[in-house]
Amino acid sequence: MAIARCDKHTPKGAKYDYRAYALPIGYPKTAAICGKMDCEEPARVWLTKNDHAAFKRGIRVFNIRAHAVKLRVSDDLNSTETIPTAPLA
Ligand SMILES: [Zn+2]
Repeated sequence: MAIARCDKHTPKGAKYDYRAYALPIGYPKTAAICGKMDCEEPARVWLTKNDHAAFKRGIRVFNIRAHAVKLRVSDDLNSTETIPTAPLA
């Protein structure tokens, strides 16, 4: 599975061999945020060998490993519930 990391936190390790990355739509103004703890930089999507092959076949949606990405939301809050407001004193 792919992993989302910023340009400062390039993934490394023996478990997965990440050699290529794709950029999420809108990068660097993307909702995809580096999954590294305490990092809020825009993420690149690092692809495994299988993901890379899928990318070459035209796949553009990738599963991301758990705890490997954060998402930035907009300032708009949408709700299906009416939130009761505190009575004015
Ligand atoms: Zn980072």
